Amino acid sequence: MSEIAPADRCLTLVIAAFNEAEALPRMQPRVRAALDMAEAEGLEARVLYIDDGSRDGTWELLRRFAQEDARVALLRLSRNFGKEAALTAGLDRVERGAALILDADGQDPPELLPKFVAKWREGYDDVFGTRVAREGEGVFKRASAHAFYRVIGALSKTPVPRDTGDFRLLSPRALAALRQLRERHRFMKGLFGWIGFNAVSIPYQRDARAAGRSKFNAWKLWNFALEGITGFSTVPLRMATYAGLATSLLAFGYGGWVIAKALLWGDRVAGWPSMMAVILFLGGVQLMALGMIGEYLGRLYEESKQRPLYLIDDWRPAIGVSSARRP
Ligand code: UDP
Ligand code: MG
Repeated sequence: MSEIAPADRCLTLVIAAFNEAEALPRMQPRVRAALDMAEAEGLEARVLYIDDGSRDGTWELLRRFAQEDARVALLRLSRNFGKEAALTAGLDRVERGAALILDADGQDPPELLPKFVAKWREGYDDVFGTRVAREGEGVFKRASAHAFYRVIGALSKTPVPRDTGDFRLLSPRALAALRQLRERHRFMKGLFGWIGFNAVSIPYQRDARAAGRSKFNAWKLWNFALEGITGFSTVPLRMATYAGLATSLLAFGYGGWVIAKALLWGDRVAGWPSMMAVILFLGGVQLMALGMIGEYLGRLYEESKQRPLYLIDDWRPAIGVSSARRP
């Protein structure tokens, strides 16, 4: 192979890992096999692991992987920045060629690499995996995901393909386009849709996690649905939303009671029940609206701070092509 392969001959697997010490030993052999498959197709293949501030020995494990295989590149963030930032950090470091994004827990099968590459070769810029089955996910996660895709589909102007995660291959130009989007609240599914180009979906069976636990609980998923992890300073603003919601609900109940009482026994102070009901209801609605404005204001505030999306603790590029692979 020549010293520098052209961009259409390079592929980097980008894998964000946060406390994945249990799953990674099972993932790495599959990743290496995928890299071999890519090389068999004449590609210069690499894998880039991003340690998103793990505290469970993930980094030590990854360093071992890099020692065993010269195609492994490592990036460590200074703390846990979340999956979206970790992926951004990884994609920022893919210098040449396409990138294939995978989960570290084995839920996105690396064995599908040839299918993704084939579509890329056909000229697609954004080849994304669509889940036809979700193994090992509870009723709640399935139901909430279902509802989420419907709501976002109705609200969002840019298309967000259904049942699609971050499992996707991005062509060099799609990658370059994505790199230009530097917003802090990174809702990746939306960003991928925003850049456009020719997209194509590959249906796949989403297996259960190889080991360890999902890092996304119900509340995390809810926040994710509210466009990425919200900053600490927007929380008080959000509370107004819930206070308003609770007040409105209480006002409805109380208003109903006041009106029923007036109808049954008459009201001694004329107009008082209806007045109370209206005041309480309006108060609730106003707080709710304020909260919603707060959501947007909070995000604006976060953007205006212009903080970097992530900070890097350690960066170890891959040293060599497969011929330089250590035993
Ligand atoms: N992840 C990450 N940073 C985080 C949370 C998760 O890099 O703060 C990684 C995680 O290691 C995994 C991927 O994102 O590779 C998906 O996470 P997980 O499997 O917990 O999500 P789920 O599949 O349950 O949606
Ligand atoms: Mg997972």
